[in-house]
Amino acid sequence: MKFIRFQYNNEAKYGFIGDNGIIEVSAEDYLTNNHKGLKKYPVNVKILLPVNPSKIICVGLNYRDHADELGMEIPDEPIIFLKPPSSIIGDRDPIIYPMMSSEVDYEVELAVVISKEAKNVDRENAKDFIAGYTILNDVTARDLQRKDVQWTRSKSFDTFCPIGPWIETDINPHGLEISLHLNGELRQHSNTRNMIFDVYELVEFISNIMTLKKGDIIATGTPPGVGSMKPGDEIQASIEGIGTLKNRVIYSK
Ligand code: MG
Repeated sequence: MKFIRFQYNNEAKYGFIGDNGIIEVSAEDYLTNNHKGLKKYPVNVKILLPVNPSKIICVGLNYRDHADELGMEIPDEPIIFLKPPSSIIGDRDPIIYPMMSSEVDYEVELAVVISKEAKNVDRENAKDFIAGYTILNDVTARDLQRKDVQWTRSKSFDTFCPIGPWIETDINPHGLEISLHLNGELRQHSNTRNMIFDVYELVEFISNIMTLKKGDIIATGTPPGVGSMKPGDEIQASIEGIGTLKNRVIYSK
């Protein structure tokens, strides 16, 4: 099921994508299997952010083919960092190019959405704590990442975390084509089977460090082909079985 949050007549609503439109569900039924359909809406509604996480935990260097591309060794443990919730935007929202940087990169990533509080979860049980999957663009000011020892500044500008457009709940995360197009041209392409640490290992590793809350997001790393964007560029981040997240880059005012 593709669960979506959308706006209709200035009201935020929950729903899923049906055959000929969006079927509204109650807030309680959102991301669950026992959804009673309420009312049907057209598909051309404004899509809202599918989830409001308390934190976004990102994994650096988690694709074998990306490590090969960079000539880097496969890490023994996941390398993790955080993006603040204030960096999140939704589908079709603009990515604002900050004045402080002159090298802003895209990174398409599979995003895991946590379904309930998770602490010290084993990989065998990790599935029980996952509501579904969406697409995330881990926008990065690469020049500032190289300059700063900590990655916080380079990863945290407002609008540096596009997420969406919706959450797919019935999908195997470990064999999905993942790609990114810049102005219609293919720039990143791989398959999630090339992850070094799979989704369930990541839930185990991270939940042994910090308590994951309902709605929290794990961004599982980016495949090869990372590169820079300029104001005016259109980015389409796609994952098989989920869809496409679209954003345009604009100048900061
Ligand atoms: Mg990344």
